[in-house]
Amino acid sequence: MLNIGSHLSSSKGFEHMGKEALSIGANTFQFFTRNPRGSKAKAIDEDDIHRFLKFAKENQFTTILAHAPYTLNPCSAKESTREFAQITMEDDMKRMEYIPGNLYNFHPGSHVKQGSQIGIEMIAETLNKILKPEQTTTVLLETMSGKGTEVGRNFEELAAILERVELSHHMGVCLDTCHIYDAGYDIVNDLDGVLEEFDSLIGLDKLKAIHLNDTKNPFKSHKDRHEKIGEGYLGLDALVKVINHPALKNLPFFLETPNELDGYAKEIQLLKEHVQ
Ligand code: FE
Ligand code: FE
Ligand code: ZN
Repeated sequence: MLNIGSHLSSSKGFEHMGKEALSIGANTFQFFTRNPRGSKAKAIDEDDIHRFLKFAKENQFTTILAHAPYTLNPCSAKESTREFAQITMEDDMKRMEYIPGNLYNFHPGSHVKQGSQIGIEMIAETLNKILKPEQTTTVLLETMSGKGTEVGRNFEELAAILERVELSHHMGVCLDTCHIYDAGYDIVNDLDGVLEEFDSLIGLDKLKAIHLNDTKNPFKSHKDRHEKIGEGYLGLDALVKVINHPALKNLPFFLETPNELDGYAKEIQLLKEHVQ
């Protein structure tokens, strides 16, 4: 059984996302915790959340994935920017507890001109401030394509962040197929080799979610432009191997391809037809 969903707009609440997900053949979804550009989150609607939790249970939904605004930068050279990231993530952590036991993904950040070592330290420092022993949410570092000065462009950098986090049992990784191919991990020709490398540096037990995207750019381009499933440089065969790989097939898969709902429905259908 394939656990799959797509990115959905959270503007109409959780119950709406649940119903939308079901309507496109999904049993999970990803959503932004607030405007992707940062700013304020909507007030928590507890009734909506209760209706969603009931709906998700009745329809055998699996874990859902929240995505932090991608403008947060916990390793900015500016202290006020780092503080903003921390405060926002802290607030997101509190909000996540209304939907206990789910996943929260964020882009580690951009070190700008400080170097990745400083970036790694600052990201870990932020995580050490926001993680609480009692939380039920697992926080995921996303694998990045390495554009600009992104931290998390290789498994070593992610491992270095994780090593510095005290409550590391609350941490995991979200692997983005577009990003890692852009970053120089050849999942088209050597998926097994890439996963072995992940396992030796981070541990496959830390892998909690997959962003399943094709890419508009060739191998190692460090660009981060997602393409529809099967229409990019990864191609359908490589992505089919990803969803069927024994180390990955039980994870939740999230489409972040350039689509509206009907396009996501078609991709989900297509991928389900290729489950072996
Ligand atoms: Fe992302
Ligand atoms: Fe992604
Ligand atoms: Zn991306």
